[in-house]
Amino acid sequence: MIEKFEYIGENAGISLLILAAVHGNETAGTIACRRLIKEIEEGKIKIKNGRLTMVPVCNPEAYRRDVREIDQNLNRVMHEHANPQNYEQKLANEICPLIKSHRILLDLHSTHCEGDVPFAFCDYPDEYNQKLIDGLDVGYVLEGWPQIYQNQSEIEDYSTEHCAHEYGNTATTLECGYHKSPAAAELAYHAILSTLANFDLTAAPKPQSRAKKHIEMKNFVIKQRAGQLSKAYKHLDKVKKGEVVARYDDGEELTVAEDGYILLPNLNCAVGAEWYYFGSAK
Ligand SMILES: [Zn+2]
Repeated sequence: MIEKFEYIGENAGISLLILAAVHGNETAGTIACRRLIKEIEEGKIKIKNGRLTMVPVCNPEAYRRDVREIDQNLNRVMHEHANPQNYEQKLANEICPLIKSHRILLDLHSTHCEGDVPFAFCDYPDEYNQKLIDGLDVGYVLEGWPQIYQNQSEIEDYSTEHCAHEYGNTATTLECGYHKSPAAAELAYHAILSTLANFDLTAAPKPQSRAKKHIEMKNFVIKQRAGQLSKAYKHLDKVKKGEVVARYDDGEELTVAEDGYILLPNLNCAVGAEWYYFGSAK
């Protein structure tokens, strides 16, 4: 059973859902939610309009063990399961109704490597999405995620953003930086505050919009067998056409087809999972 915290403003307004620790070891958003819950309960922050719901830990067992998932990636099974087969599918059945009943979702994640640059995903651009992203203190926006999953069908894309979109709602995933970095928790906290102000749930001043670079995702690589990335890439490292970015232990080399960026490299990737993504500036 997931724990949720709901705050209803005096006046009508928009409904906002904040999710954290969909991946159990991504705790920046959890720290941020708990900080905000304390401040709301102490009366330091007041929800004036609309409705705010926060789920500080979406995957409690993975959170307890400090791992990404128990049986399956929760952010690939986020739809309603008539016959849930495992722990994450049961969690999805609890979380989907919340996504359905909130007009806007901010899903807080973090990434694998120390020094990773924060960024936002914009999978299904619409007016609310742009407003949400404009208020976030990130320099990069990644677009085109649903398209690459459509094109490469090895893994189904039942993400939180996909789920919100299916219900006619708006979602953005915010990657706050390295999992255990205090700066990531700070960024997550300010992202929530900015979103509350931006959508008039609080009376705080609206956040300043920061210039953002938009990157179009082109493809991803599933790790097929034992191998390694050719160096300790960081998310958003520039790569050149023909650069060898990974090597399988049997000698096969993986190169990139054009100049661009390596995205979400996973140095400790398990066989069968997404190893890295590639994209280029729009
Ligand atoms: Zn994540």
